[in-house]
Amino acid sequence: MPDALDALFKPRSVAVIGASAREHSVGHSVVANLQAFGYVGAKYPVHPKATEICGLKAYPSLDAIPGPVDLAHIIIPSSQVPRAMAECGRKGVRAVIINSGGFKEIGAEGERLQDAFLAEARRHGIRVLGPNCQGIINTDPAHRAYCNFTNTLPQAGSISLAALSGGVGGFMLQSLADLGVGLRMYASNGNACDISIAEILRYWGDDAGTRAILLYTEGFADPKAFYEVARDVAARKPVLAMKAGRTEQGAKAASSHTGSLAGVDIATELIFEKAGILGFSDEGELIRAAMAFASQPIPRGPRVAILTNTGGPAVIATDVLVSIGLQVPTLGEASVARLRAALLPQAALENPVDVIATAGAEHFRQALEVLLEDDAIDALYVNFVTPSFTDTQAIAREIVAVNQRRCKPLVCNLMTDLSQERFRVTQRILLEGGVPCYGYPGEAARALGALHRYGVLRARPCAAPQVFDDVDAARARKVIAAAQRARRTVLAADEVATLFECYRIPLADWAMADSADAAVAAAERIGLPVVLKIDSPMASHKSDVGGVAVNLRDAAAVRAAVRDMQQRLAHLGPLRFMVQKFMPAGQELIVGATRSGTLGHLLMFGLGGIHVEVLKDVVFKLGPLSAPEAESMLDGIRAKALLRGVRGQPGVCREALVTLLQRLSMLLSDLPMIEELDLNPVLGYADSVCAVDGRVRVGPVPENSR
Ligand code: ADP
Ligand code: MG
Repeated sequence: MPDALDALFKPRSVAVIGASAREHSVGHSVVANLQAFGYVGAKYPVHPKATEICGLKAYPSLDAIPGPVDLAHIIIPSSQVPRAMAECGRKGVRAVIINSGGFKEIGAEGERLQDAFLAEARRHGIRVLGPNCQGIINTDPAHRAYCNFTNTLPQAGSISLAALSGGVGGFMLQSLADLGVGLRMYASNGNACDISIAEILRYWGDDAGTRAILLYTEGFADPKAFYEVARDVAARKPVLAMKAGRTEQGAKAASSHTGSLAGVDIATELIFEKAGILGFSDEGELIRAAMAFASQPIPRGPRVAILTNTGGPAVIATDVLVSIGLQVPTLGEASVARLRAALLPQAALENPVDVIATAGAEHFRQALEVLLEDDAIDALYVNFVTPSFTDTQAIAREIVAVNQRRCKPLVCNLMTDLSQERFRVTQRILLEGGVPCYGYPGEAARALGALHRYGVLRARPCAAPQVFDDVDAARARKVIAAAQRARRTVLAADEVATLFECYRIPLADWAMADSADAAVAAAERIGLPVVLKIDSPMASHKSDVGGVAVNLRDAAAVRAAVRDMQQRLAHLGPLRFMVQKFMPAGQELIVGATRSGTLGHLLMFGLGGIHVEVLKDVVFKLGPLSAPEAESMLDGIRAKALLRGVRGQPGVCREALVTLLQRLSMLLSDLPMIEELDLNPVLGYADSVCAVDGRVRVGPVPENSR
């Protein structure tokens, strides 16, 4: 069955409405690119007066074109676009690329025009890329479609690239070409009024010629749709992505209000992570990683052997590799013995293996052979300077021969002088042999690091979120419904406590009281010592207003604390109190959640106190949480060692914490009207965890929530 995007990426004919004879104009570049790239289908420049553009016969209108038109470019003033779209409809055009700007991005008048052409497109079943966009490229020899006004003519290859921003897409396209990385398809969709990055991703997921996909985005109009497609495609092929607008995630984590801890920006990175997409925060690193993904297998583990013919750069490479989580282990005796027999006497034999500068092709070949056959090595890093006294081209051919066996990933840091012809040839041998070559030791190391990071990402344990069958969702819903009927968005302390009870989230034993007598009776039932807290919608941080009295040891102390708060806090109205069991000191933890549009909840975990406020040491994950995801939250904070216990301090019961996170995740999935929730603190002990404070804010149920 033909795909809706076939007309965009594999058009059999292209018309250019707004084709121009004026060189370097968009209307000229699009036609010239179709010609220069050898587009296989029929090309129809449309121009009211011209009879020929770029050597092609021009037509006064779409109607005048003899054959059918699959794809039309529209490159005319925005006010005329709705009418042109109607013409496309009459002609039976199936997809349109609107290069023109002047739509939603300029304000209300532009938005009106955008709505108008979109209505026309929908009426005729035309799919639209843009407006305000570049277009597409498909290097498949069966099509050679260059429907775009950029001027990079890429080599055919296996990497497909989609960028919302044409500016970023353009330079990424150029950077790939500069590195000699071949392109499969390209798309930049500008205002994205119809065809989204998600849909393009799905299309490339099904494209056998696309080996890896690169995405550049600035966020998603429909994050949920993107997530669902991404999860599916990322399970089949590597998807590497970068989101612009890097966040001060840590800075946002400053306050203990979960609502301000996580924003939409964090959500995009969390979507990548949950979907199994490899995220990048540096565009250069993304492009250089793509070069490695284009030709290299994924390493089975973190152990790298460095083969070098010069000392210093191998030291830098070692530092970078180790700092990004790879290992440069000492080689085993058997490999060292083989290297000793094969290499020059001055060679360093452990790891890095320094064959020294005078080594020739035969030395490289034997050393590579040993490293390839060593089962304790997962990846090869070649550091290659080109001394004038060696046959560097012969060495390059040996590296290529090893690379083409494709049993272990290989990257090369090539340090050479490209102004000399013989070294340009050396480089060309490597590149044509599929060896990813980089210009700095750290760049090659990070590209290898990306392959490893991807291997770890794909190997992570997958599990469905646990469903607890001992919860009482109906009662929890009733509690929230009652609050909503009373037009309260912040739940009262007993309502929060009841929600936790419904989901068996451990909370210190509690009772409500509205007088000293009632508080004393509650304290005696719970068992002294107790804590007394006010419960007022006007004091969300109770201790800030002196509304928490801890460690009350007897009835007199409880009574005195009630009286004291009643006097001091009289301005808050008639007071209600929560009396709570006073818990022994433990590790203070913070757990929170905030809802992110239709995506569901972002969950947060960290250590309390200074770890949140000063160190911003918190971790976020997109719910619902599986057990491995909950586990990875515990391992995701810098202070994770404190959870395990240090210097005689007991750690925190991991199992109890993982269960708490999963129960909370289930509560949130069941109750999508919760906008914000936090448990601050949860006290962690060696054998259990127990929350002592909770806050919940509810809102309307988002449409289309999962
Ligand atoms: P708020 O965060 O609104 O100021 P909390 O209920 O979190 O109020 O109480 C403030 C602090 O008092 C907590 O961070 C904790 O250190 C301590 N605390 C509160 N409840 C208990 C309890 N039941 N047992 C022991 N310590 C408690
Ligand atoms: Mg608190």
